[in-house]
Amino acid sequence: IKKIGVLTSGGDSPGMNAAIRSVVRACAYYNVECVGIYRGYQGMIEGDFENMGPRSVNNIVNKGGTILKSARSKDFMTPEGRAKAHENLVEYGVNALVVIGGDGSFTGAEVFNKEYKFPVIGIPGTIDNDIFGTSHTLGFDTALNTVVEAIDKIRDTASSHNRLFLVEVMGRDAGHIALNAGIGAGAEEILIPEEDLGLERLLESLRKSKLSGKSSSIVVIAEGDKIGKNVFELKDYIEENQPEYDIRVSVLGHMQRGGSPSCFDRVLASRLGVKAVESILEGKSNYMVGMLNDKVCLTPLDQAIKGHSQIDQELLRVSDIMTT
Ligand code: ATP
Repeated sequence: IKKIGVLTSGGDSPGMNAAIRSVVRACAYYNVECVGIYRGYQGMIEGDFENMGPRSVNNIVNKGGTILKSARSKDFMTPEGRAKAHENLVEYGVNALVVIGGDGSFTGAEVFNKEYKFPVIGIPGTIDNDIFGTSHTLGFDTALNTVVEAIDKIRDTASSHNRLFLVEVMGRDAGHIALNAGIGAGAEEILIPEEDLGLERLLESLRKSKLSGKSSSIVVIAEGDKIGKNVFELKDYIEENQPEYDIRVSVLGHMQRGGSPSCFDRVLASRLGVKAVESILEGKSNYMVGMLNDKVCLTPLDQAIKGHSQIDQELLRVSDIMTT
């Protein structure tokens, strides 16, 4: 292996830059050339490459987003698109790829590996933490801190006006952000895609918390909550059933993807980037690097994609107890 390509793909997440930096510097450390590929797979198809040395990643460890830009590429879903991408890699002398992204990006990497026997290693970069084989994906910890900080601010205004706030956080298929940030920010209820809390229980819990003397309430709702109502429908439903509530909705949206990565995400990115390069140099391919029990480890890409990380039952129990 003489030249390793690195790209970021799918939704961006804080820590991607720290991971790019780590891959580039690990390559330099092991005397391997490194090539940055812009705009994910689309840039691979269009030959948007740039040689990267250790000094080309100065001052990015603390930056959100990705200097390589990210993209979703329809062309890469076609054999013709992938053939063009392969042609460009061969022409540029790239022998292996590090793909930083979510499960969609890993699926693309796996397909590409099968077609061309091209060595690929994935680094999990998504705020949703929905990937099997790692306790944390890059950006999850930063997103949690962002959400908790936002809810703390909402709580200040909620308690000044005795209001009920419904706060929608990201997580179409996974409730990790909602559950963790909800516990961290002291939410009254947390609605996630994995568990059906039931509308009756929600109303009951709100009634109880009012009776117990709470002056304000925060309910955290993942985008894909199991109740099947979006946050505005939920507001209407509660108002119909408990008109005494003064309800406000706050959708946190894309701010959750931005910001300077937390120290945890920076350290994680540095560890995973080094492990990705070392794995390639050891001849490994088709794995995702992750972290379990504070140890970096490898999981076959197909398992990382299909496995889906489960919601921690102990966390659910703690959340229940905290809302007493
Ligand atoms: P996020 O978690 O933010 O959604 P992701 O990596 O899952 O990130 P996707 O948009 O699902 O994001 O996938 C990124 C890109 O991976 C797609 O735009 C496409 O180019 C490529 N890709 C996904 N699935 C396939 C596939 N089956 N075959 C080839 N390429 C794929």
